Amino acid sequence: GFKCGIVGLPNVGKSTLFNALTESAAAQAANYPFCTIEPNVGDVPVPDPRLVKLAGIAKSAQTIPTRLTFVDIAGLVRGASKGEGLGNQFLAHIREVDAIAYVLRCFEDPDVIHVEGKVDPLADADTIETELMLADLESLERRVPTLEKKIRGQDKEAKQTLALLERMLPLLRDGKPARLAEISDEERPLFRTLGLLTSKPVLYVCNVDEASAATGNDYSRAVEEYAAKQGAGCVVISAKIESELAELDAEERKSYLAELGLSEPGLNRLIYEGYKLLELITYFTVGPKEARAWTVSQGTRAPQAAGVIHTDFEKGFIRAETIAYDDYVGLGGESGARDAGKLRLEGKDYLVKDGDVLHFRFAT
Ligand code: GDP
Repeated sequence: GFKCGIVGLPNVGKSTLFNALTESAAAQAANYPFCTIEPNVGDVPVPDPRLVKLAGIAKSAQTIPTRLTFVDIAGLVRGASKGEGLGNQFLAHIREVDAIAYVLRCFEDPDVIHVEGKVDPLADADTIETELMLADLESLERRVPTLEKKIRGQDKEAKQTLALLERMLPLLRDGKPARLAEISDEERPLFRTLGLLTSKPVLYVCNVDEASAATGNDYSRAVEEYAAKQGAGCVVISAKIESELAELDAEERKSYLAELGLSEPGLNRLIYEGYKLLELITYFTVGPKEARAWTVSQGTRAPQAAGVIHTDFEKGFIRAETIAYDDYVGLGGESGARDAGKLRLEGKDYLVKDGDVLHFRFAT
């Protein structure tokens, strides 16, 4: 599955946020086995109003949302790239995630110590990013001598790798993350093999005080501006409120949200943004037994999408009966869509679109 890491300096509200995510997941898991694999890994349902709508039309007995994994990665302190704190372990965990959410402290509270002495989310973002850039820089510099040796032996891939590396090094030395490098489509696979921490997409999560949950505050506005310039995502959230919301039942939650001036829990926005960041899309399978959402990357073809359900579906793939979400809803379900000629038979080259309602035909 796809993983989004939660990182940040100590005492910024990471655990509070992560616990809210997993608690609210557990609360909603009535018809889905919720299990925590490791204490710091949480598999959370992706809220999607379209799934509810589809299940209503098809009178499905149950709905099963798709899920996204969040990993609470503790141990980031200044000097992590040099092994300070949980340095090496911390970096190893970051290597394993597909995207990174930086939790930034945007709340004042004299009772909660700030490791850097004062609330300054942009300085904190810079501290985190600097550690990751230093780690990247070091790992690239370490590779140079080996690559040079290979090139003397006429190794073509080594030559390409070194050329790419020599473009990345000045960027990192200049204090810029690898995700800002201009990488062509042909270079992309090689770029990925470099495994750079700062090449992963980033989402800034502004943890604001309760009073600013709906509006944000000056700290979070500064982060939003910064994120926009970087082409990164940004979510304003109050971890404290989220942890309270996670303990309420649906009715109570609704009235508390209204009281706060929020249309939905901040966690939902965090999950959506994480999904967007990872360039994921959702397709649906809908029937009387269940309506279910599935996750694939943008640009996935029908057989590989089928493989997410079961490897046999991919191996024996024949075709995908496909109805666009809007057609399914607008025409009152599968038979209406079929009668209107909106049920398409798509083959193995079909690129699945977000919202497609699919029924796979396969041979065993
Ligand atoms: P972590 O070290 O980043 O995982 O931070 P924690 O989630 O353990 O939070 C550190 C402290 O800050 C705890 O005492 C939390 O109760 C407190 N805290 C977290 N979020 C907020 C918040 O939004 N407002 C206030 N006032 N305190 C918070």
